[in-house]
Amino acid sequence: PENACEAGAPLWTVSAARLDQLSPALLELNPARVYVPLELLASLSALPEGETEWCASLPRVWRDRDEPQLKRWLVHARSLGVTGALAGNIGHLSLLRDSGLYIYGDFGLNVFNSRSLEYLRRKGLRSACVSFELRFSQIRDLRKPLPAEAIVYGRLPLMITENCLMKNSGSCSCGRPNVLRDRTGAAFPLLPAYGHRTEIQNDRPLWLADLGDYRRLGLQYARLRFTTERPEECPRIFRDYLEGAPARGEFTRGLYKRGVE
Ligand SMILES: [Zn+2]
Repeated sequence: PENACEAGAPLWTVSAARLDQLSPALLELNPARVYVPLELLASLSALPEGETEWCASLPRVWRDRDEPQLKRWLVHARSLGVTGALAGNIGHLSLLRDSGLYIYGDFGLNVFNSRSLEYLRRKGLRSACVSFELRFSQIRDLRKPLPAEAIVYGRLPLMITENCLMKNSGSCSCGRPNVLRDRTGAAFPLLPAYGHRTEIQNDRPLWLADLGDYRRLGLQYARLRFTTERPEECPRIFRDYLEGAPARGEFTRGLYKRGVE
């Protein structure tokens, strides 16, 4: 495919796991896009103040019986001023077809080569997030018929479970912070997901701010993925990325340097 959408330095996008992360201090930094879970947008009567493109991210797992509710929520999101939707899964495309929202691909589409980008372009998507299992050199060498995005900050998701892990351990407290610990003592945060599921996050966040590399891969968008961060941490991290600062705590470089076999 043609390399029509290769970009210079990427624009910033932000994904939030909670509404309190969308503080005025964060939105003043003018991310190009903000991704918010559709189920959280459903509870809002107005969007926060901010010059950005608001996008709904769709649940990673859902059932056919959930679709009427998801469609109602998409109509509501659009009435709030949301103009884009993040599709994490090929099944989302039919849900979004008549929504009037621009469709952007999420990491769950596992974009690993130029043909995937070309396929998604033909499906009408306007951008797509590439797999976080690609190396920088592979992202750079992708031909980009579609604007490409990569996650450059945040805890990466390891697993999503059908049942709430907290509920299985007795009483459910999945609204409060919970972690799973492994034998080394590393703590893996458990985030509530749509349908009373649980998404297990990596113990350390991805940190690339101090490596300029990701800015020279032809990406159109670089995403800061907020999960467990407190509201005041989010703008601080955003500014660290603007300044190219080193990490303040434990971090991982993910697979961008190492790759997968
Ligand atoms: Zn629960």
